Amino acid sequence: MKAKIYRGTKEIGGTCIELTADNGKILWIDLGQPLDEKNPNVDYAHKKVDALLISHPHQDHFGLMENIGTEVPIYIGQISLDLINATKIFRDLAPLNINFMIIKSWKKFTIANTFQVTPYLVDHSTPEAFAFLIEADGKRVFYSGDFRATGRKNIVYKKLIEKSPENIDILLMEGTMVERTNHSYSTEDIVEEAIFNIIKEQNNLSFVISSAQNIDRFVSVFRACKRTHKYLVIDIYTAWILEMVRKQSTNIPAIEWKEIKVYDHPSQLEKIKDKSFDEFRIRVKQHRMGNLVFQNPSNYVYFVRCPNENLINKLRSKGIINIIYSQWEGYLKDETNYIAQKINPLKNDVGINYKHIHTSGHATVHDLERFAKAINPNKIVPIHTAFPATFKMEFEEAGIKNIDLWEDGKEYKL
Ligand SMILES: [Zn+2]
Ligand SMILES: [Zn+2]
Repeated sequence: MKAKIYRGTKEIGGTCIELTADNGKILWIDLGQPLDEKNPNVDYAHKKVDALLISHPHQDHFGLMENIGTEVPIYIGQISLDLINATKIFRDLAPLNINFMIIKSWKKFTIANTFQVTPYLVDHSTPEAFAFLIEADGKRVFYSGDFRATGRKNIVYKKLIEKSPENIDILLMEGTMVERTNHSYSTEDIVEEAIFNIIKEQNNLSFVISSAQNIDRFVSVFRACKRTHKYLVIDIYTAWILEMVRKQSTNIPAIEWKEIKVYDHPSQLEKIKDKSFDEFRIRVKQHRMGNLVFQNPSNYVYFVRCPNENLINKLRSKGIINIIYSQWEGYLKDETNYIAQKINPLKNDVGINYKHIHTSGHATVHDLERFAKAINPNKIVPIHTAFPATFKMEFEEAGIKNIDLWEDGKEYKL
């Protein structure tokens, strides 16, 4: 078997790994959108391959998969596929017409009569993310995908460390957090506590800015609301995401739960006007927020992508409004980003109490090292990192000496 990384040996984003078996069969793992504009060339994305495996529904891992055509099978989890389709529905894009094969955690399967694949559920900032063990030609490759040890599913990290796959020839491991820190809020539980401490004192409305697809964060905010007897207000898109995730796991909050209210903006109602959404639309209406917020704004927390300017201006006179920015701060540094343009001015607004409360979806260097030591592979290749040399240096200081730095686009024999 041979392996190649098209992108990711020196950048975060655009992940694409190629495995070529001795019989010539080609398997790709992830086909992500590059995030870095310095190297826009994605010509490789049109290559003919036998199958594609998707680790999780983040753009930097699946964003180019539609280039692969309608015949090539794409192996993906059900929640991942439903979340990708949810985005399509609410952006008025056509549903995907691809040859999808649904995969399940820990259920081993074979691709192209050649590659044996075992998906391992990992803890990440999306409800379904996989690492993969891939076996072919007597070799064993483990790809970590994106993962962490500090979220609501950290049990899967602990289990993987306790009972890790053995005899791994090569570990392709993410290194996002090399030269990034996660000091202020190290776990999802600490994020919940910090949000709880702010909203329990609120005299007016609070907004929490995050991604609806980050279910761990949604649950943290939900729990903080429950503990403070506040209502959590979500939009129709977030309500639909909850529907999709609840198909697999019913301990996720539903719109019927008494702490939840749905803000049914006409532009989003428009997206679910098709008959197939009839039942959902009726339930949305039953739990709609309406104008309740104006009576007693301190009873409500809005979970949104972007705070509503009109609502802020209408409620200003009633006291300080909390804006809790609960995602990666890097997005606010890009002035072309719509959310940055809306949020940055609010940081210095005297009527706003702005707080950044967030924990990363990625493992700290310490957790990466524990992971690598547990798996104990022959070789470790960093991927999904902007700082491979620092990765190598830090690991060597921790006594892990078998780090191999690869080049994008170069093929290596396993
Ligand atoms: Zn990623
Ligand atoms: Zn990710």
